[in-house]
Amino acid sequence: MTALQGKGVSAGVARGKVVFLERGGCAVKKKLVNDAADEVKRLRAALKTAAAQLDALEAEAEAKLGREQALLFEVHRMMLEDDDFIDPIVAMIETELVCAEYATDAASARLARDFTEMNDEYMSARAADVKDVARRVVEVLSGGGRSDACAAACAAACGGGEPAILASDDFSPSETAQLDRSFVLALASQAGSANSHTAIFARTMGIPAVIGLGEALAAGLAGKEAVLDGESGVLCIEPDEKTLAAFLQKKNLLAEETARLERFRGKETRTRDGRRIRLYANIGSVADVDAALSGDAEGIGLFRSEFLYLGREDFPDEDVQYESYKSAACKMNGKPVVIRTLDIGADKQAAYFKLPHEENPALGMRAIRICLTNKALFKTQLRAIYRASAHGNVAIMFPMIASASELRQAKAVAAEVRRQLEAEKTAFNPKTPIGIMVETPASAIISDVLAKEADFFSIGSNDLTQYTLAVDRQNESVNQFCDTHHEALLRLIKTTVDNGHREGIPVGLCGTLGADLTLTQVLVDMGLDELSVEPSLILKLRSRIAEG
Ligand code: PEP
Ligand code: MG
Repeated sequence: MTALQGKGVSAGVARGKVVFLERGGCAVKKKLVNDAADEVKRLRAALKTAAAQLDALEAEAEAKLGREQALLFEVHRMMLEDDDFIDPIVAMIETELVCAEYATDAASARLARDFTEMNDEYMSARAADVKDVARRVVEVLSGGGRSDACAAACAAACGGGEPAILASDDFSPSETAQLDRSFVLALASQAGSANSHTAIFARTMGIPAVIGLGEALAAGLAGKEAVLDGESGVLCIEPDEKTLAAFLQKKNLLAEETARLERFRGKETRTRDGRRIRLYANIGSVADVDAALSGDAEGIGLFRSEFLYLGREDFPDEDVQYESYKSAACKMNGKPVVIRTLDIGADKQAAYFKLPHEENPALGMRAIRICLTNKALFKTQLRAIYRASAHGNVAIMFPMIASASELRQAKAVAAEVRRQLEAEKTAFNPKTPIGIMVETPASAIISDVLAKEADFFSIGSNDLTQYTLAVDRQNESVNQFCDTHHEALLRLIKTTVDNGHREGIPVGLCGTLGADLTLTQVLVDMGLDELSVEPSLILKLRSRIAEG
């Protein structure tokens, strides 16, 4: 038996034969060319073909993984049009007279290295995206390649009628998104990053995965029996009896846990002393509503509407938005759907907004600030939401509110939109609740004032943590200072709950803290009425609340 230790990035266990995906045939050769202009033309044609492939892949990923994840391929496509990506390749062809394949490979390797050297885990993970895009272009230029090899390995795995543990040096995000779940028991790779899209996709698809196994994970292991634990990060080749027994025990425990959680399906969420808590799902697009329903969500507590604006060339018009909100409201069939108005800015950027460069974007032009300075944009979205309110149980939620004046201004725009719709005799629910996200320390501190003017509160613990502790949520290097159980944060949450209740409005929490099972009891005891989390966590949370 050989036990290899890596990093578990997607939980679950798997047992099966190893299929090793070799990359040997993909080395890019340096060839000299006579006509640089012709070679640049060839490169531009390949960029177009690669863009078309990515459009198709985006559609496939949307169906398999949901809109939020599929957006990665929109980003990849944009990279193909980005001068920072293209210019160094063209320059290399023109100055060194090398073939487009070599120039793409070499220039992008440099760009990827720059990302890696930033010494930031998040940016290092982006290097994988650059490599993925460059590999695609090289494949197009040379006709076929790695993606085909990945598909072939999957086919080999299933050819024997048996799904397998798929191993490789690394898996690109596009390969992972194209995997056929029924043929892949688990993923194991030599390299990789926990923050990469490959890891995120594996988790979304429910494929156990271990990365960073190093060169001990070699092609020679192909065909060998193995067990993989996506939690502890262990891959055991030819496991002995003791290891197999431990693996089977863990597998049974996981199956028992899944079966136990199923008993909570369709039930109301109640604490041990019988208090009702509402368990909602966070979604990024209509495609995620299915996950919310299969996760047994009692509603949508946070529809991050900004994903409708991302990955596009221009603003989504009223009808595009209306169709999306209406579809979510209809699918939820009377269950609440809380649509958060645009929260663009900071880490979520769309070029067509033409936002100025900011030194501190998280403290800059973001969310409600953009809407209040661009009322036409805001009105279009509010019209779409109000029109959708005629088809279900819709609520409006404003993000990043920091003062009563901002809330009043936003409500005034909503009132203007209602008047317009009434005058046009367009159907909508005039009683659509209007709530706010409490995600700035300012809003938590004046929550007594805001509670008089909002129909509900939802605490955005992600931003509330960032702004309270002055810890940039995008900056991995300050992670160690991000104490999500910090007393200051807990006091602000408690203040918000008490102030909301004093005015008789419900108070929920839709940040990541809601899924922290070690804090569930504390949050419930504070009196929160609702928690909104990732769809897959709802049954687990319901069971936790019931157990007390
Ligand atoms: C939050 O800040 O907690 C939140 C839910 O919003 P987002 O993560 O989208 O900023
Ligand atoms: Mg937020």
